[in-house]
Parts: sequence; structure tokens; C-alpha cells
Amino acid sequence: MSVGKNIPKVSLGLYPTPLQKAERFSAGLQRKIWIKRDDLCGVVLGGNKVRKLEYLLADALENGCDYIITTGAAQSNHATLAAASCRRLGLEVELILKGRGVTEPLGNLLLDELMNVPVTMVDSDDYRDVYAAIDKKIGELEAAGRKPYLIPVGGSVPLGALGYVDCVSEMAAQAEAQGFKIDHIVACSGSGGTHAGLLLGGKLMNPDIKVTGIVASPEKDFQKTIFDLTLAAADLLGVTVPLAIDDVVLKDYTGPGYAQMSKAGLAAIKRLASEEGIFLDPVYTGKGLAGLLDLNEQGYFQPGENIVFIHSGGAPAIFAVPANAAD
Ligand SMILES: *Cc1c(COP(=O)(O)O)cnc(C)c1O
Repeated sequence: MSVGKNIPKVSLGLYPTPLQKAERFSAGLQRKIWIKRDDLCGVVLGGNKVRKLEYLLADALENGCDYIITTGAAQSNHATLAAASCRRLGLEVELILKGRGVTEPLGNLLLDELMNVPVTMVDSDDYRDVYAAIDKKIGELEAAGRKPYLIPVGGSVPLGALGYVDCVSEMAAQAEAQGFKIDHIVACSGSGGTHAGLLLGGKLMNPDIKVTGIVASPEKDFQKTIFDLTLAAADLLGVTVPLAIDDVVLKDYTGPGYAQMSKAGLAAIKRLASEEGIFLDPVYTGKGLAGLLDLNEQGYFQPGENIVFIHSGGAPAIFAVPANAAD
């Protein structure tokens, strides 16, 4: 189901992941809500980064790279998924994380430790400091004759975004088999690669599909970043799509701050857990569903729309970010 037929990809996740109707949740809202279970993709506790890593690590291997470096916040799902994927492929890996004030190895950090992956915590709030540390490390590795490969935050480069182009074609086939058509996709947007891939996939598969990104970590010029990523991903596939900047629809539900539980996020986590037995995470998907619920209240969705919510993973943070202490 790979859209870029000539673009190398390694197999890491168990795809297709289920596309499930959330029956009780839908009934409560009088809506048709489907959940794309990318939390069940079979690497660590699942998550959206695996689809990107299938392309990025294939690229690393293709280029003969032998040392993977990636980064993120201390509780980065991406970093842990990258580490586990590298372990699986026998690639050496190091995580250089933005970790001001982080002392306890909880959640993803605990998993990183159990995999015995080297983690360097950069004591800063600014990615410029983190990238300076990464540049230094890359220099040392190259001087020692190694071939490092850097995966930027969230794997959100055009090549990584292709993972979510594939996801749209996967979901379109699943929807057809289940007798419906996807009208609207709602997903969390963090570093933007998932959103870009979904947008491009939608444009290619069925231009009527709407994509709404719920922001849980506000970025400057985020709409433009996603717009550029989408066009660059289209370039990689050798396709042109009609795309306007306003096709990138973002709704901010960060609440008190990145990786800080919001009241609405906690309520959304509890609601889906109690109605469906499905667990969202405190950093992204809880706020994502809170956004969906709030937009629904505002009459944002069309009557009868089939809405797909992407469960992009994040479960390890449940055990690190106090989800019961919402601001
Ligand atoms: C990284 C992440 C996101 C955001 O995806 P991006 O491609 O970075 O925008 C959403 N949910 C979870 C659980 C994540 O780990």
C-alpha cells in the first residue's frame, strides 16, 4: 500500500492497523466517529512515528549510515519509537533530547533505559542548543569514520510524511471494505509530518476529504510549515496537487502548555476510556479528542459526516505526565 512505489521502505509496523467505529462514543455524540488505531501498530506501545520511520530508516540503510541520532522532548514518543526500530534493525542509535529539569526516568525515558539506548539530556528549553549538541556529536562520529544519520524532531521531513500518505490509502481501502467513505480526518499536529501526509494523501485519494489538525504544541508559522512539507512530499512522489495555504486547517487546544494536561484533555481521555476502553495520551491525543468534542459542540462537522480520528499513540506518557492533575 505504499504510494511511492520506487521509494525504499522498511517494514516495522503491523499494517493495516484497525479502523474501528467507536460505537458508544458515536451514539453519545449522534455522530459517526471512527478511530484509526495507529496506537496498535506493534512497535513499543504504538504510535504515528512508526510510519515515518519506515521511510527514514530505509533511507539511512540505503545511504550506508550506521549511527542514527534523533531528538525530541524528554517524553518524546518519536525518540523511543526510533530507538526501538533501530534495535529491531540492528542499527546503532543515540537520543539527544531537550530535557530541562527532567530527572526521573518515567514513561518513554524508562523504555529508553530498558532498551539500553544512550540518552543525552540537553539542559535547555531551546532546540538550538539541542541541535548544537547534535552537530558536535555528528562531527565526532564523522571524525571517527562513522556515517551518522540525523532524524529531526518527530521525523517531520517530506520523506517521513509519506508514511501518512500511505495511511490515507490504507484507510480508504478499509472504509470501502466496511461500506463507508471518509469525509473528515481529525489528527493531532505536533511537528507537522502527520498532518502533511494526511493532507497530501487526501488530495491524491479523494480531494473532498477534509483534514483538521489539532494543535497541542503551538509552533510559530505552523500552517506554513505544514503547507511546505505537504508540497515537498508531493515533489518526492513526483505529483502536483492543488493546495492552498488555507487547506492547512489548525485548531489550537494546547491549553495550559505543551505536555501539560488540560481539563478538557483529561475529560476526553476519561470519556473514551470509559465508553470504549481505549486509552488516549495526555500530551497529544487526549487534547486531540477534546478538540474534536469542542468543534462538534460548535457545529463544525457536517451532519452525517464519517469522521476518522487518528489515534497517534503516546501511551507511555500516561505513566509520566500526571493525567489526573489537570490545570
Ligand atoms: C508526535 C505525535 C503527534 C504529532 O505528530 P506530528 O507528525 O509530529 O505532527 C501526535 N500524537 C502523538 C502521540 C505523537 O507522539
